[in-house]
Amino acid sequence: MIDIEQYRISQAPYYRAQGEEIALYEAAYAARLPVMLKGPTGCGKSRFVEYMAWKLGKPLITVACNEDMTASDLVGRYLLDKDGTRWQDGPLTLAARIGAICYLDEVVEARKDTTVVIHPLTDYRRTLPLDKKGELIEAHADFQLVISFNPGYQTLMKDLKQSTKQRFAALEFDYADAETEQAIVTKETGIDSDTAAKLVQIAHRARKLKGHGLEEGISTRLLVYAGQLIGQNIAPRAACRMALSRPITDDADIRDTLEHAIDSYF
Ligand code: ADP
Repeated sequence: MIDIEQYRISQAPYYRAQGEEIALYEAAYAARLPVMLKGPTGCGKSRFVEYMAWKLGKPLITVACNEDMTASDLVGRYLLDKDGTRWQDGPLTLAARIGAICYLDEVVEARKDTTVVIHPLTDYRRTLPLDKKGELIEAHADFQLVISFNPGYQTLMKDLKQSTKQRFAALEFDYADAETEQAIVTKETGIDSDTAAKLVQIAHRARKLKGHGLEEGISTRLLVYAGQLIGQNIAPRAACRMALSRPITDDADIRDTLEHAIDSYF
């Protein structure tokens, strides 16, 4: 027996809405539409799904996808133990059985044959064939599939097929506006709002370098890290180096540019 309760989110996650996304998601869930969350890393997509799962009172099963992930990792496999073979459901199968929201984070990382297994779950069939087991699962009425996708990393090699994309309704995310992001950093870290405002301004400067030497700007997640270090009494300059400039670039020139910006605020 599976303990569904472990997948329930008991405490309301802090989520600051950026627009209409809560109402839009609720409508999509009511219609059981599969949803794609698009946007750069660290801008609040995972937090949003956690918040929505809590708000809707549904269990949430999250899978971080990677390039080695096979269809069996999602669907399940036979295991050998001392009593012989035993089938073990993968996270997608489990979510379909128990009626959870299944969140496939960075799905584009997974191999293309992996993404195909989600297809029958995303249309009117709402089924999942377990080929190896010879079982066809009909998804629980509460089941919903959510994927995240960062268009910034999109290359010819790494893109979702149109046949996959066109199975999802999409919500586009981005870093929150300055005032909202400052409120998020203050709330998540407990630092004062003046310091949070400076961190956000540094991020804005860095985000302008995207495509000019930086692959991605400084994310909200990194601002929260910087705030947490400052909250541990680390001097802001050192905290910003550790959390903001050093993680995102290995290029000495870009790093100096970022750290010059940091020093102009702290
Ligand atoms: P993503 O899934 O887009 O990579 P996350 O949801 O993990 O990003 O967000 C990273 C962190 O940024 C969260 O842990 C949270 O601290 C903060 N965050 C970002 N956006 C929000 C938001 N709208 N409300 C509350 N916290 C947020």
